[in-house]
Amino acid sequence: GRVYWDFFPKREGPLPGCLVKQSVVENDVPLCGAYEAELIVAGHTYNSWSFVVNDDEDNYLYSIHIMEDITEKHAAAAQLNASKLLFDTVANSMDETLLLYDKDLRLQFMNQAARHTYGVNVDNYIGSHCYKILWQRDDICANCPALEVLRSGKVSRALRHMPDGTILARTVYPMCDASGNISGCAVISTDVTEREQQLVLLQRYKQILSTESDLMTFYDNDEVCVAMNDTAARYFGGVPSDFIGKHAREIFGEQRYLFYQPYLHQLYAKQKAVSLARWVDYATLGSRYMYVTFIPYIDENGKLDGIVTRVQDITDKALQDRRLRLVAKVFESTSDGVIITDTTGKIVAVNAAFCRITGYSEDKVLGENPRILKSGKHDDLFYEQMWQSLMNSGSWHGEIWNKRKNGDIYPEILTISSIYDDNNQLSNYVAVFSDVTAMNKMINQLEYQAHHHPLTELPNRRLLDIRLNHSLQTAIREQHLGAVLYLDLDNFKLINDSLGHSVGDLVLLEVANRFQCNCREVDTVAHIGGDEFVIVLDHISTVEAAVSYAQQLLTQLQQPLFIDEHELFVTASIGISIFPTDGTEVDMMLKNADAAMYAAKDGGKNGCQLYSHELTEIAWQRVLMENSLRHALENHEFTLYYQPQVTLPQGNIVGCEVLVRWQHPELGLVPPDRFIPLCEENGLIIPLGEWILETACRQWVSWHAQGYKPGRIAVNVSGRQIQREDLPATVAAVLKRTGCPVSALELEITETFLMMYPEQAIKVLEQISAMGIELSIDDFGTGQSSLNYLKRFPVSRLKIDRSFVNDIQSEEDDCVIVNAIVAMGHGLGLSIVAEGIETKRQRQYLAELHCEEAQGYLFSKPLPADQFVKLIS
Ligand code: C2E
Ligand code: MG
Ligand code: MG
Repeated sequence: GRVYWDFFPKREGPLPGCLVKQSVVENDVPLCGAYEAELIVAGHTYNSWSFVVNDDEDNYLYSIHIMEDITEKHAAAAQLNASKLLFDTVANSMDETLLLYDKDLRLQFMNQAARHTYGVNVDNYIGSHCYKILWQRDDICANCPALEVLRSGKVSRALRHMPDGTILARTVYPMCDASGNISGCAVISTDVTEREQQLVLLQRYKQILSTESDLMTFYDNDEVCVAMNDTAARYFGGVPSDFIGKHAREIFGEQRYLFYQPYLHQLYAKQKAVSLARWVDYATLGSRYMYVTFIPYIDENGKLDGIVTRVQDITDKALQDRRLRLVAKVFESTSDGVIITDTTGKIVAVNAAFCRITGYSEDKVLGENPRILKSGKHDDLFYEQMWQSLMNSGSWHGEIWNKRKNGDIYPEILTISSIYDDNNQLSNYVAVFSDVTAMNKMINQLEYQAHHHPLTELPNRRLLDIRLNHSLQTAIREQHLGAVLYLDLDNFKLINDSLGHSVGDLVLLEVANRFQCNCREVDTVAHIGGDEFVIVLDHISTVEAAVSYAQQLLTQLQQPLFIDEHELFVTASIGISIFPTDGTEVDMMLKNADAAMYAAKDGGKNGCQLYSHELTEIAWQRVLMENSLRHALENHEFTLYYQPQVTLPQGNIVGCEVLVRWQHPELGLVPPDRFIPLCEENGLIIPLGEWILETACRQWVSWHAQGYKPGRIAVNVSGRQIQREDLPATVAAVLKRTGCPVSALELEITETFLMMYPEQAIKVLEQISAMGIELSIDDFGTGQSSLNYLKRFPVSRLKIDRSFVNDIQSEEDDCVIVNAIVAMGHGLGLSIVAEGIETKRQRQYLAELHCEEAQGYLFSKPLPADQFVKLIS
């Protein structure tokens, strides 16, 4: 019964029921259905529905009002609104795209970023299936991560590479309702394109660094290694992780660290990269040449944030540089001239030696063609062949005449080589040459020296061989005769030994000169060593012509030689072989002439001898003798014979001459003329002479002790013995050793030796004479005595040479000589001994001349000691 509005005393605003009634009345419109309004009463908010009930004629009957208190609901909605607002604000301010789906994957929400990204009108899509929204994207797939998330309830994260190149990092979160059931999912996507690209870049850098051949290391400001590439680690002998976190001092080692420190200081001070190159020893790799650069790492604020070290192993380059420097040095300092041209022949480089040899300066020839050096001495064919060789084999080598800047033409040894580049393309020609002017001169000189004797400059043995061979062949071909004269100076060794080698050399020069003056242009005078000469007479008419030529030479030689203050007499012995009769080969010819020469020596020297076949045998024996002579003394093969010397005219034995014999095991008894000269040559005469002297003295003492009266013993002394100035001492020692009295001994010295070295002889002989020993001149008459000297020699006897005695009766001349010698000897107060008396006539003749003593076969041949003793018993 209460009025409607009484129920709402504290109402705000019009009551919906009143409004309904009013509307019905005013508009006369039958109302039906419900009217909804919100009503606030006493602080509560109500939702009010008003239903109008009409009668059948549509006249208002009554209205029903239903009110629901929605205060709480309202508050919740407001809260929800606020949350939604907050959510929208947050979601829309996100950079990431956010899409919310319900559990059927129907879109619930899409934030601003998503709308922007997908470019869709979101209102059209809310409630749509995600595939529909993104149908043009790659999301239409069975294995959609959202499905999996809805199933598993686990978060899914993945990168999506979009067709336009962008990269999305997409995370799908499951969403749960209040009871914890999965109610949907949220998909958040971020554009990580830039980040990803940077990451990729970073990855690439990392890869580059790790495969980089340079050693890269990064140190922080405390010099602790924070990064290192594999190469660096390999050099240090490990992998990067072995070193990362370690201090540079530990990695380098104390010494190297200290070495680097000044450079680091420099880097800290200037914050600029510093570089250095040095040899570094690595435990595993050995010594390497490293180019080290310390680079400051500056952060975005401009502050030093570490040090990057970049180290390049430049060992190979350093070695190559060194080699190049060496090559350059060689190029510049070699004594060979070097020209480098391009392929067209244009000079691109020359070295200092080139300039020195040719006289051209570098700037004058660069760009020129080496043709400027052409001498004109070679024809076109020569150069054509040179190029041909260069083309075919890549090089040419040979001797060529070129022209200097001053016009001089000179010989050079030249090598031209083609140079190819790495692609095997011809790039240059290099010509290396040496000026062989001096060398050619030297070669000629050597050639000359090789074929000539250094002293006399006469052809030597080699050239002789060549010339003789030529002469021989010509003689055989043209059937004419030729001769080989083998000349050996007599007693030349004595000259050398007593007057010195310089005098000896002068003698040889003079002798060579005389030989040359006496022969024809076609003949060859060769000096084959020492005092031996060979003359080849190219074309002679008869054998006699060769002999007479040899004799002519001997006569020429006999002219005295004046050398320094000495007046010297030189003789020679000449052996002659005739070709082609005595031989058709060089060696044979020389051997035969040599044998003939020895025969001439044996024949008394100063003579010549033609080769005969018997001489070969003698020459052979000579060789045999020479070989066995060395052991003859120690093998006791020598014995002494004694030949009596008698008074004239009575014939009483007053002494004997001691004559040595050699009992050769194969050759039998060898006479002294055959082996004494050999002993003089090889020096054996010294010990042999002493042995003879001592044996003779002992014999005398022995005979004397046995009561015999042997008289005096005359011992022959060789010139070589006198030349050794200790002869007086040796003689004295022998006398002392043997106990032989001084008065029993006489020494014989040949006239030839005395006259050759008078001064020296006088010196030694005076000492011997002073000891009380008598001296005699042997073979007197053969040695061209100078009366002047004869007077000065301290001798008491002259022995007339056998050759003069021999001819008494037959030749008047020789008698005259004997007469003269006896007269002269007596004139000088010397007594005379005549040697080689074989006939009574000779004995009588000499007795008549008052020759005091005699020796010869007429009285007795030389006898062994035991036979001689019978003569004096
Ligand atoms: P020589 O000193 O003039 O010796 C004399 C030579 O004449 C000896 O020859 C002797 O046997 C020889 N003879 C003596 N009477 C006659 C004769 O009536 N008719 C002929 N046809 N010959 C006679 P042998 O022993 O052959 O000695 C030759 C030369 O050898 C010696 O000549 C001497 O120069 C040297 N000789 C010998 N023994 C020695 C020696 O012990 N020492 C040295 N240094 N030379 C010696
Ligand atoms: Mg004698
Ligand atoms: Mg004699």
